[in-house]
Amino acid sequence: MATLPASLKQIALFLERLPGIGEKTANRLAMYLLRMPEVELQAFGEAVRELKKRTKLCKQCLNLTEDELCSICMDNRKDISTITVVETVLDLLSFETGNIYNGLYHVLHGKIDPLNSVGPDEIYINHLLTRVKGLTSSLKEIILATNPDMEGEATAMYIKKQLERLKEEDGGLKFKITRLAYGLPMGANLEYADYGTLGKAIEGRRDY
Ligand SMILES: [Zn+2]
Repeated sequence: MATLPASLKQIALFLERLPGIGEKTANRLAMYLLRMPEVELQAFGEAVRELKKRTKLCKQCLNLTEDELCSICMDNRKDISTITVVETVLDLLSFETGNIYNGLYHVLHGKIDPLNSVGPDEIYINHLLTRVKGLTSSLKEIILATNPDMEGEATAMYIKKQLERLKEEDGGLKFKITRLAYGLPMGANLEYADYGTLGKAIEGRRDY
């Protein structure tokens, strides 16, 4: 059986590890890269090499950024009285691209998932609590926008309890806690929700 030269095969094997890419597609993409003009390929390689080095988490909201604070936290047109808590950066992007929300975010980078050994300490819940503690005068609302599946619900419930405890400890904290409305089907994934549905979900959010 004919096989690809080792250098090409190595690239194909890396590509095959990407989500949604099978062996045939990986081979085809590797071929495509080989035909790319040298200068473009160099730029691509350089971008890949720099990816991890340059990208870090925003100190405030844990969105991805190349600076201390991300572009959203730096944007003074944002409504700083509201924080929406999301599971992933891709969820955050869904809200931003749809232009349906103008507040700040907090990215958990996961959800509580005991079956896969992810507890509250494995995601950025403590970071959220520390952040909220300092916001006695400015914070009016926290929207829990974890996904409407079992783990997302458990995560929202856990965070709600922790936030309520904070409010009990510090009477200066006056924010309300809300949860997205169920225009979203149970088990839905925010990343794939259309903007209309997402817009309705945030408009119809309810006290939680
Ligand atoms: Zn940020």
